[in-house]
Amino acid sequence: MTRAKISIIGAGAVGATTAHWAAAKELGDIVLVDVMEGIPQGKALDLWEAGPIENVDGTVLGTNDYADTANSDVVVITAGAPRRPGMGREDLLDINKKIVETVVQEAVKHSPDTILIVVTNPLDAMAYLAKQVSGFPKHRVVGQAGVLDSSRFRRFIADALSISVEDTQALVLGGHGDQMVPLTRYCTVSGIPIADLLPKKKIEEIVERTRKGGGEIVSLLKTGSSYYAPGAAVVQMVEAIVKDKHRVLPCSAYLEGEYGLSDLYFGVPLKLGAKGIEEIIEVPLNETEKAAVMHSAEAVRKSIASLRNC
Ligand code: NAD
Repeated sequence: MTRAKISIIGAGAVGATTAHWAAAKELGDIVLVDVMEGIPQGKALDLWEAGPIENVDGTVLGTNDYADTANSDVVVITAGAPRRPGMGREDLLDINKKIVETVVQEAVKHSPDTILIVVTNPLDAMAYLAKQVSGFPKHRVVGQAGVLDSSRFRRFIADALSISVEDTQALVLGGHGDQMVPLTRYCTVSGIPIADLLPKKKIEEIVERTRKGGGEIVSLLKTGSSYYAPGAAVVQMVEAIVKDKHRVLPCSAYLEGEYGLSDLYFGVPLKLGAKGIEEIIEVPLNETEKAAVMHSAEAVRKSIASLRNC
């Protein structure tokens, strides 16, 4: 059996960390691409040389040439500028639109059958753009947001209850912005609803911290945005694809009527496997949750509409 080929476009903080987590899990041969000469080569060589310590095989190649990405099973798009303090994700739209257009064109030229995982912000708009530019069917273009947002939510729940993160489950729907919708009703500790374990006020605090989780890290780092947890989130998706795990994960997907929404990328629970998105799962929502979803969708629609004006 041959190893999976995973190409990561953008060898910056998120791209390199994604490569790191993927190599540590021995998910396949990794290709790291960037416009900066020497950066992907140096990072890839360094990571490859760590293989003997971690007992992992597989190649890690750094390059500026998309020909090296040919026939990738998965292509992860992380190229683009990150936020700085005071910036919202939407402030990145202008600059990242041009970058994502170029890198998607190049990547799909060499891997016409690949599955694209989009990470660049503003996430839902960039995933929409990647689908347009690639011309791929909707099941082969998926955005990473919900796995990260749900991980933050789970971390805060585990911390509040002094329990293992392993026993926490969370579901965060919606756009990857401050209007995201953590569905607290569907958040449990080993099947026990968190409302039975934590006071309402504490849950509200956790929801708020989850919504602002990205910004909290930007304001601490000052020079960029988070990358360890985003990289780990991407790798959970990559693993679901290369191992055909049929995992149920919250990811950004192109909707055609699901949740009453159409023609936008939006965070929903879906089944992810070797063919990409296998199924979008619609969970019943109460009126408050529906209103929150619509509010979040409005923000995503605005972001997608801005793509046309820049
Ligand atoms: P970074 O600045 O560390 O790295 C970006 C890399 O992209 C740089 O190495 C740069 O040279 C490269 N690049 C720029 N133009 C390119 C091109 N045309 N072709 C190839 N490479 C190119 O930034 P980062 O922290 O890695 O963040 C990357 C993106 O991911 C940002 O847009 C950020 O907002 C986003 N992000 C998304 C999530 C999420 O959950 N979806 C989480 C964190 C960061």
